[in-house]
Amino acid sequence: PVAPASNFIRHIVERDIEQGTYASRQWCGEPGDASTQATGQPDPAKIRTRFPPEPNGYLHIGHAKSICLNFGLARDYQGVCHMRFDDTNPEKEEQEYVDSIKDSVQWLGFGWEAFGHSHLYYASNYFDFMYRAAEYLITSGNAYVDQQSAEEMRINRGTLTEAGKNSPWRDRPAEENLALFREMRDGKHPDGSMVLRAKIDMASPNINLRDPAIYRIKRATHHNTGDTWCIYPMYTYAHPLEDALEGITHSICTLEFEDQRPFYDWVLEKLAEGGLLAHPLPKQYEFSRLNLTYVVLSKRKLIELVDGGHVSGWDDPRLPTLAGARRRGYTPEGFRLFADRIGVSKADSWIEYTILEDCMRETLNESAERRIAVLDPIKLVIDNYPEGQSEDCFAPNHPQKPELGKRTVPLSRELWIEREDFMEVPSKGYFRLFPDNTVRLRYGYVIKCTGFEKDADGNVTVVHCDYLPDTKSGTPGADSIKVKGNIHWVSAAHAYAAEVRLYDRLFKEAHPGSGDRNYLDDINPNSLTVITAQLEPALKEAKPEDTFQFERHGYFVADKKDSVEGKPVFNRTVTLRDAWQK
Ligand code: ATP
Ligand code: MG
Ligand code: MG
Repeated sequence: PVAPASNFIRHIVERDIEQGTYASRQWCGEPGDASTQATGQPDPAKIRTRFPPEPNGYLHIGHAKSICLNFGLARDYQGVCHMRFDDTNPEKEEQEYVDSIKDSVQWLGFGWEAFGHSHLYYASNYFDFMYRAAEYLITSGNAYVDQQSAEEMRINRGTLTEAGKNSPWRDRPAEENLALFREMRDGKHPDGSMVLRAKIDMASPNINLRDPAIYRIKRATHHNTGDTWCIYPMYTYAHPLEDALEGITHSICTLEFEDQRPFYDWVLEKLAEGGLLAHPLPKQYEFSRLNLTYVVLSKRKLIELVDGGHVSGWDDPRLPTLAGARRRGYTPEGFRLFADRIGVSKADSWIEYTILEDCMRETLNESAERRIAVLDPIKLVIDNYPEGQSEDCFAPNHPQKPELGKRTVPLSRELWIEREDFMEVPSKGYFRLFPDNTVRLRYGYVIKCTGFEKDADGNVTVVHCDYLPDTKSGTPGADSIKVKGNIHWVSAAHAYAAEVRLYDRLFKEAHPGSGDRNYLDDINPNSLTVITAQLEPALKEAKPEDTFQFERHGYFVADKKDSVEGKPVFNRTVTLRDAWQK
């Protein structure tokens, strides 16, 4: 594999390694609820990054960018990328999501085993530390309990052009704040009646520094800590602590967190002053999130698509979830190539969906064996071929990889061919079947079209031909007759009639929901077509997730969920760039 192109984050990492920014760090051991105590051992990892999803949904293609970036840095610079579940929000998190997220990260080819440890962490394991750190902020005069209503707090926060107003509770003595905060923890106050706020600057031009809330009261059962807590830390307070406890060096997030960086640094500096954390501290860096045309990359919208029944579930092959992409037949190699190709920058932009499709084509072209499939079948009868007889033809499994060998494809008197491969009256430049024309049956004989039959509606139902016995592919006579057309076929007596799903884009607009449209109104009503196709017999043995190129059509995968042994169902992953080669 080619090394990914450099980018500004790689430059920062290389500079930090060269300057030894993190060389003095000690390995923190297993960060648990209590301990941030360094072990006295030097940290074996040169850098530590993390991938910190909230387990409140399935991962999507945007997350793949973040995964490839964070795990890719660890892979390339002798570091570790922590798999961390950011589960500080008790209400929306579920085990199902935890499992699917782990599965997707591993499927993409990454893992969290390094230096003899499994670096799988849960932010909720640090609730005790986060609480102690909050008490420290109170006693050091850096936090206070505010009893204003949510509405008052919103108004007093001010605006971009107008400074905020100090809360009447801002100068409450530390002992009172501490007592109240403990009462909050002990369940003495109703939800929403008070919050703990950092005491920074209500006149700061950065609104995020106008005394942000760091703890709120919320009576909710947490999937990990149960009912132990009725107060929970806010994300912007919890996240820097999680990073610091785990010894993260480069905390990489998307651009919308840029304005939070001063608060990230503030929290860590205050706790370092108090001896609760040690220098060198983690640093946050922002990159632009992935925006991809023809899809939506937002958990909220994906949840709506699933719950609203617009798709069959989280792993619907049309969804841009990683679970859906996997069922669609997209490859981990394709995603890694895509991440390298789009790069990492701070410029917001839209990436064309075709770039992702090209990456899938490129990787599948390498890996997928070739097979023959007739998607829109009509009969071809070779009238001069003996009835009841058949013979073997030989088709290479991969044209660029002779080592993958050939398979036998049976030929007999009646074949299935594509409806498009016959024209009663050929248009200009049409080299396939029409009356009196000769073409090659790929891997078989040259045939000459002798006639056709139509039904009452004028649709062609059967095409007739004769074959030229000396022209079989792979025999000395194969080149005796030159033909311009080369068509694929499947023996009707041997074919496997299979369910094949042809997917199109889920949205018909490049930017779903742009302007004043609702993105749901941009759904493509024809994103799924189910057909019965005639496949070469070898495809009957396909195992779930086996990928193939169906010659001339595109890449297909045996569906992971709906295939049964001896009766696989196929999903079209992506069409070939040039669908009709001659
Ligand atoms: P969404 O915006 O879809 O709800 P999220 O940001 O809330 O996603 P998290 O679970 O918090 O989802 O994300 C985990 C990580 O993935 C974060 O570090 C986040 O920055 C990153 N990430 C999420 N969406 C994208 C995207 N479109 N492009 C790049 N990285 C992303
Ligand atoms: Mg989030
Ligand atoms: Mg989000």
